[in-house]
Amino acid sequence: MTLTKKIIKKEAPKQGMLQNVMQQFEAAAERMNLNPNIKKILAVTNNELIIHFPVRMDNGEVEIFKGYRVQHNNALGPYKGGLRYHPTIDIDSVKALAMWMTWKTSLAGLPYGGAKGGIEMDPKNYSISELERITRRFTYALGDNIGPEHDIPAPDVNTNAQTMAWIADTYMSTKAPSERSKNQHVVTGKPVGSGGLEGRDRATGFGVFLTIKYWSEYKNIDLNGKSFIVQGFGNVGYWASHFLQEVGAKLVGVQDAFGTIVNPNGLEVESLFNYTTTNDGSILGFPGSEVLDKDLFFELDCDICIPAALGNQITEDRAGKIKAFLIAEGANGPTTVEAEAILKERGIEIIPDILCNSGGVVGSYFEWLQNRNGELWALDEIMVRIDKRIKEVFKKVYETSQIKDLDMRSTAYIIAIERIERAYIQRGIFP
Ligand code: GLU
Repeated sequence: MTLTKKIIKKEAPKQGMLQNVMQQFEAAAERMNLNPNIKKILAVTNNELIIHFPVRMDNGEVEIFKGYRVQHNNALGPYKGGLRYHPTIDIDSVKALAMWMTWKTSLAGLPYGGAKGGIEMDPKNYSISELERITRRFTYALGDNIGPEHDIPAPDVNTNAQTMAWIADTYMSTKAPSERSKNQHVVTGKPVGSGGLEGRDRATGFGVFLTIKYWSEYKNIDLNGKSFIVQGFGNVGYWASHFLQEVGAKLVGVQDAFGTIVNPNGLEVESLFNYTTTNDGSILGFPGSEVLDKDLFFELDCDICIPAALGNQITEDRAGKIKAFLIAEGANGPTTVEAEAILKERGIEIIPDILCNSGGVVGSYFEWLQNRNGELWALDEIMVRIDKRIKEVFKKVYETSQIKDLDMRSTAYIIAIERIERAYIQRGIFP
């Protein structure tokens, strides 16, 4: 047996997302006068798991992978959060993403804590059957560190319903036959037909759209004719664009891992999506579009900017050049703390990630309930329920931010952390 290890190219800069989330947390804790003991608990992650596991590749060789699962906090319920497959993933970025999940689930009023995980690798380098073996072996290695009432993964960057189906099947296969079907909700974001929720695929993008819609209503802005740009044309970017186009907004620029395209007259969202499916997932070469230097993307003339890819994209340098009046954070942690200060100064508003992209985990919660209760919900009913939840949470954040004269991120953090603080105060600290 030969042991090989593919060299992973680290092109993207190491993301300082942990510093980012910690600074946001510290600022909120100070502002809300968070109980100092609870602050100590929330400043650290409960459990951090790093797993090295071997997988046989198609050519017969064995490759060792590094997988992560970080469980930040479970004061409000089981740990919840996605799994991402990406070459830049490391323990600090997973810790940051797990913390964001704790705030996100709390803000959305869900009975969940926060977690995140993933595997350090670029899925583009592997065949489907290799990806299946990698996912199944990782699931096996995680063992009962995940579980339907303990820690529930979901899709994130570069993972999807197929990934979740493999995880559910592997996890359930490790249980006694009579227990298997009780474990279907070990993951959410499964394919419809394997316990998945109708509409879970569009839930995050729909939520992004809804937060933009409710923000515009408060501001008396008509979305019809407004222009927007999207970074990332995956599940989140595509569906957010789809719903925005439906109300007459115009997509004028898109950036993905392959490059940047623009058309000031508008890029038709469905045609672009169909084009990517026949073009190895890439937006490049879309008829009627022009290619733009990737560094100029955030400077594009537009009304709304939707980062829906990775963290730390809106940096200090870029913040001064943004033309949009609104940033809707489809991604987790796309704006650095320094950039945010500049945007604030310039009067550019931000719908923060923990609110803006929470439609995904709200959809996950409905899937989990559906599995747990042995029910099947219809798409129209699900969309109405997601809308209702996002509307309520948006209203709470927006109106509180007006009363407190605070930005929406600080307000969202305070609401989220207060809920966790209350739970700790009611229950006390064991022993
Ligand atoms: N990965 C998504 C997020 O960052 C969804 C998480 C989930 O549904 O558990 O919110």
